[in-house]
Amino acid sequence: REPTDINSLCEEYLRLAYHGLRAKDKSFNALFSTDLDSSLGLVSLIPQDISRVLLNLFTNAFYAVQQRQKQGGPLGYHPTVIVSTRCVNKEAVITVADNGTGIADDVKQKIFQPFFTTKPTGEGTGLGLSLAYEIITKGHNGTLEVESKVGEGSKFIVTLPG
Ligand code: ADP
Ligand code: MG
Repeated sequence: REPTDINSLCEEYLRLAYHGLRAKDKSFNALFSTDLDSSLGLVSLIPQDISRVLLNLFTNAFYAVQQRQKQGGPLGYHPTVIVSTRCVNKEAVITVADNGTGIADDVKQKIFQPFFTTKPTGEGTGLGLSLAYEIITKGHNGTLEVESKVGEGSKFIVTLPG
């Protein structure tokens, strides 16, 4: 573990995730922004592991808004991903919100299972969220939760003890 600047990791990996999707689809455009709590300070964690978690959450979020855009989306739809950090009761809380496809309840029950994916072959391994869950809960004593509604979007919430 090392003292880690979660805010910088969020900035860096949000960009990386966006450009990763753009590299495969030049017509893809999304708005993305960060709302970072500067009082967060350095948190003791395994930076490589948390980076993998962030990259997967951000990539999933961009993928979900890309899918919704391809489906047409509502009038005036703007694919949007917002990442925020907060310091709550000495815990770091990272929230990844997208206005993408959303997740149906029956699918929601399975997303943390290894190899579960709704993506076509070659686009997803289904390992991202199961690995993220292991890293956050077993590796860092934190929590990983999801709130989602089809047609509205999804929110993934990571909590890491300080
Ligand atoms: P993969 O991205 O390889 O499919 P993950 O474990 O990262 O594997 O995600 C599993 C599944 O959870 C995805 O295939 C998708 O159905 C769903 N999912 C994850 N994040 C989101 C999101 N932000 N919006 C909608 N669905 C999501
Ligand atoms: Mg994934």
